[in-house]
Amino acid sequence: MKYLPLLFILTAAMAVGIFAQSADIVTTREMDRINWMEFGETVPSKIDTVLLPTGTLEPHGVVNNGADNTAPAAMAKAIAKQTNAMIAPTLPYGITGSLEGYPGAFRISEKAYRPFVKEIIEGLVKNGFRNIIILNGHGGGQTAVLQSVAEEVAIEKRVRTLVINWWSFASDVTQEVFGEDGGHAGWNETAYIQAIDATLVDQKRYNDDLATPFPRSGTWAAFPFPSSIGLYKEGEGYPKFDQKKADEYFRKVNEKVAALIIEVRRKWDMAKL
Ligand SMILES: [Zn+2]
Repeated sequence: MKYLPLLFILTAAMAVGIFAQSADIVTTREMDRINWMEFGETVPSKIDTVLLPTGTLEPHGVVNNGADNTAPAAMAKAIAKQTNAMIAPTLPYGITGSLEGYPGAFRISEKAYRPFVKEIIEGLVKNGFRNIIILNGHGGGQTAVLQSVAEEVAIEKRVRTLVINWWSFASDVTQEVFGEDGGHAGWNETAYIQAIDATLVDQKRYNDDLATPFPRSGTWAAFPFPSSIGLYKEGEGYPKFDQKKADEYFRKVNEKVAALIIEVRRKWDMAKL
């Protein structure tokens, strides 16, 4: 009998926990999972921000060729509720650069990519979104194209756009968690993937010889780049596959990206843009 209050408290706590987990203003934040009726009731009256993950297919050391898609797609899922955003389907084909010659890599020309991305962003605007946030997973020439297209649409359609290149933006988190700089498919990016899905990391194939430091700007350029792991700083960023650090990195990068989105949107609102 004396356990009854405890049982009641436990049951109540569980109910609150379940409620807190499932409570959201929409049944899904993914645009390809929601139906048109719920979308119409939600966008833009309750949600006017959308996250568009963009990536490409290219080699990434011992993780998956689609790492640049896996990362921003998982990031979008992790932060959508916190940033009150919907998630557009990932654009998985991109402008691969000096890793284009590797098996399974895929390169879309800028000529084809630019108008296609532009129409995707315009389509998001047409569907009611006012804040278009591009979570970009791939660097090189793609970054400049995305930024320029996002700017064009912002001007032409009077909307607000933000392009985030997460691995650069979170370089301080890389230092904080790993105590060193990262690289393309380096410890940082490999860890981010490991946190999402450890089965995508083929650790037994790894050795440090799979990595090459990126050249200092203007010193040399090789095509294809001789390694799919490119280190930002000589001697730093070799993947070490520490699951705990990987999980911490994933969480901290996402927190930083979400905070940026919330802050930029707050300032847009404040400036009445
Ligand atoms: Zn990558």
